[in-house]
Amino acid sequence: MQVKRLYPEANLRLPGKKIFGNLDPEFIQQRREGLDDPEVKSFLSLDNPRNAPDDTDLSPETSDTMSKDSNPINLGPSEKKSVKPSDFEFLKVIGKGSFGKVLLARHKNEGGVYAVKVLQKQAIMKRNEVKHIMAERNVLLKNIKHPFLVGLHYSFQTPDKLYFVLDYVNGGELFFHLQRERYFSEKRARFYAAEMASAIGYLHSLNIIYRDLKPENILLDSTGHIVLTDFGLCKEGIEGMGTTTTFCGTPEYLAPEVLRKQPYDKTVDWWCLGAVLYEMMYGLPPFYSRDTAEMYDNILYKPLRLRTNVSAAARSLLEGLLQKEKEQRLGSKRDFQEIKTHSFFADINWTDLDAKKIDPPYNPNVSGQLDLKHFDPEFVREPVPASVGKSPGLNKLVSASVMEADGMFQGFSYVPPAEDAFS
Ligand code: AMP
Repeated sequence: MQVKRLYPEANLRLPGKKIFGNLDPEFIQQRREGLDDPEVKSFLSLDNPRNAPDDTDLSPETSDTMSKDSNPINLGPSEKKSVKPSDFEFLKVIGKGSFGKVLLARHKNEGGVYAVKVLQKQAIMKRNEVKHIMAERNVLLKNIKHPFLVGLHYSFQTPDKLYFVLDYVNGGELFFHLQRERYFSEKRARFYAAEMASAIGYLHSLNIIYRDLKPENILLDSTGHIVLTDFGLCKEGIEGMGTTTTFCGTPEYLAPEVLRKQPYDKTVDWWCLGAVLYEMMYGLPPFYSRDTAEMYDNILYKPLRLRTNVSAAARSLLEGLLQKEKEQRLGSKRDFQEIKTHSFFADINWTDLDAKKIDPPYNPNVSGQLDLKHFDPEFVREPVPASVGKSPGLNKLVSASVMEADGMFQGFSYVPPAEDAFS
């Protein structure tokens, strides 16, 4: 295997050959599972399963484990009223992510409907992911104002769980729409790519690398605009062209430098934008192979070949973004400015785009807030775990491991100032 030959020191254990059958169900399944494949995970030296099993379903013992005296719920910057799970009515399971479930919930008093991400502290600790989750929380706090990044209303915790109360976005995953339509028109792909690029450019301006851009993390709102979610893999504090080496991402979209375990920088996000744009226009990720090891080989060595059924401007952008050498990649010098001014986006007025003044090319046609037609029916059918809505009682015994988990997440809770709440 070429990768092994060239990088003997990396001690790679490559996943075995796999036949995924022809596109649809199995390909979709594979994409959904992402890093869940044990072979892929061990190859990536990661233990970060995407579809965590029943992480939010707690056994009676733990779901009822209650707080110590100094319960850290709602220790936020604000002195505002505290928020707790029992303030919400949990209506439906709408998704599963890396560490737990995402539920549709209504605030009992205020009436607002939110997506609440519920994560189990112990599951996160077991996987050594505390930093990622705190990064996610920090990123969510920083980005509440950007039009194409999901907004955080509250975060709070109980002794055993973390809660993110997010904008509820119900136009469906971009992946879901892409699977159904196979590929998008160039105009439609341009619109989505521009909104994503704007969000990434904004994160980069805060010295944050997104790192995990892929259709599953890209949602459409009820009017068809992009909303990026899942900040679990973001890397904070990357100044200028600073680099980082944590090896993570999603198999199809891994940039060559990530595969090589070399340090990477913000340009990794421009590679991923190229991969998403390619998939939107051609229907499959670039360098895709059913054989995962071959796909890695392709990412590292195979020249990008672009069929001429897309415009020259689109091909030029893809070539720029999917440059294997990050130093030559579009965005390596002036970051978002280089993407923004590329001819593919010549028709985009970026001020209008950010003001949501450009009409989305597709309307998800949702009939009201509780329309769940764009969510995976498999999740929606799932019963809501009773434990997620329980607020801790007082003076009950807490197991040592829950106490320990509790201590790891100091400072997590966030309640916005009065005027921001539920705005
Ligand atoms: P995540 O843990 O962020 O990867 O989320 C897992 C899945 O839950 C996503 O792929 C979406 O289908 C769904 N989801 C996440 N965040 C939201 C949200 N704010 N609104 C609606 N659905 C969401």
